[in-house]
Amino acid sequence: MSNMDSAEVDKFQSFASKWWDTDGPVRTLHDINPLRLQYIQEHSSGGLRGKKVVDIGCGGGILSEAMARQGAEVLGIDMASDAIAVAEQHAEQQALQVRYRVQAAEELAEQEAGQYDLVTCMEMLEHVPDPAAIISACAKLVKPGGDVFLSTLNRNPKSYLYAIVGAEYLLGLLPRGTHDYEKFLRPSELLEMTRQAGLRMRDLHGMAYDPWRHQARLTGDVSVNYLCHCQKGT
Ligand code: SAH
Repeated sequence: MSNMDSAEVDKFQSFASKWWDTDGPVRTLHDINPLRLQYIQEHSSGGLRGKKVVDIGCGGGILSEAMARQGAEVLGIDMASDAIAVAEQHAEQQALQVRYRVQAAEELAEQEAGQYDLVTCMEMLEHVPDPAAIISACAKLVKPGGDVFLSTLNRNPKSYLYAIVGAEYLLGLLPRGTHDYEKFLRPSELLEMTRQAGLRMRDLHGMAYDPWRHQARLTGDVSVNYLCHCQKGT
């Protein structure tokens, strides 16, 4: 419970009813979702079908549902109870089988160590006090040889300009105060955390977001948004 910033979780609680509004406060998550889904499909050994997956910090279930549609057996966890309630209701409306729980990653890792083929933790590490502890929980949850997918925001003047000044203040793509620059993570820091957790980073790519077309694409430039694929040793 200690690795949670209540003010951060409250931000996501406050717009719980808007998780599935594709023009709302989490519009950018909807916009980048097809790209990250494709990335997971292509980088995981054998794709998503039939895989046992846990989505850490799942929010209203944007990625969890997309993975379930590809045939994965998905559990989504988050500390924002209202987001989890919305996620459950939405999956039910879609007649999709997704399980959701209000639970901390570290606690789930104690209970279900080594039980997952694939773990995702997207756009969440920049909202927690101790991201290394979350990464270690991801590493503990995944089976030997399994896949872990992480995404976050880099920390440098350009990411400050794009992700905070541009996205929150100039373009209004995200509610003001969504992101805290101090919590952004450099890829070198993320790499070190994954290593410490016993994961091997297999791929790292930038995600370039076009705010006018509302589309994202993969790029070699990791200076703002980026995602990576890691594997646990066998
Ligand atoms: N992963 C989802 C949602 C990202 S928004 C997606 O990419 O579509 C960030 C999410 O992290 C929010 O739902 C917020 O409630 C959650 N979060 C923040 N701190 C958390 C913590 N300590 N433990 C679990 N979830 C947390």
